[in-house]
Amino acid sequence: MTDPGGSAPAPDLLLFYGGTFDPVHNGHLAIARAARDRLHCPVRLMPAGDPPHRPPPGASAEHRAAMLRLALAEERELCMDRRELERGGRSYTVETLRALRRGRPCASVALLLGADSFAGLMSWKDWRDLFSLAHLVIAERAGSPLGDLAAPLAAELEARGGADAAALRRVPAGRILRLQQPLSGESATRLRALIAAGGDWRRLLPAAVAGYIDHHGLYRDGGGDGGAGAA
Ligand code: ATP
Repeated sequence: MTDPGGSAPAPDLLLFYGGTFDPVHNGHLAIARAARDRLHCPVRLMPAGDPPHRPPPGASAEHRAAMLRLALAEERELCMDRRELERGGRSYTVETLRALRRGRPCASVALLLGADSFAGLMSWKDWRDLFSLAHLVIAERAGSPLGDLAAPLAAELEARGGADAAALRRVPAGRILRLQQPLSGESATRLRALIAAGGDWRRLLPAAVAGYIDHHGLYRDGGGDGGAGAA
């Protein structure tokens, strides 16, 4: 299911899930489903064009989007949002949210992210502004506990945390909800390494995505196609 953003009737909570999805794996799908079910709203998975916080992706934006489309084909209320791919350039979340806010100043907007991403939030562009633009929904991740955060982040979690699904709908931004879901240890880094090493990787992602990786020979050299066609 693909929604470029804007064509569907506005739900009362807009929930975005940004990532590199290089490739999309079962861990991503598990937290997206958990967020959908907990918050009772669709989740828009938003692949980054050119991620500023990490090395360039192993597969091009075109391939990453194609794999995500396959992964979401049978999923209820999980859709792809192409706005960062179509914008091109570096995918700063704060800029994506500012652009969104220009059209929807009062909408409740939330951003889903893993605990490891939250722990690194202070390296994101204008990170404090994120709280005036969106709520954060933080998924616990195996090996990334929230008990060991830098002091400024721990303070934000303390001040803004404890929100429930209703609280996220009462105000446009600024609350934090911790998503309890079964911890899954998948990571795209590990997957890429397993593919390059010829290990047992197919069970870690949807069969259609595994078929796509095989068909296009992605990640075999430990990197992929180096980003040809990237947005
Ligand atoms: P990489 O290993 O290359 O960093 P990744 O598997 O973390 O990739 P990303 O696309 O970078 O995938 O992740 C998008 C978001 O999903 C991030 O906020 C990340 O914390 C979260 N995430 C990814 N895998 C999991 C998982 N298994 N459990 C919880 N959160 C996850």
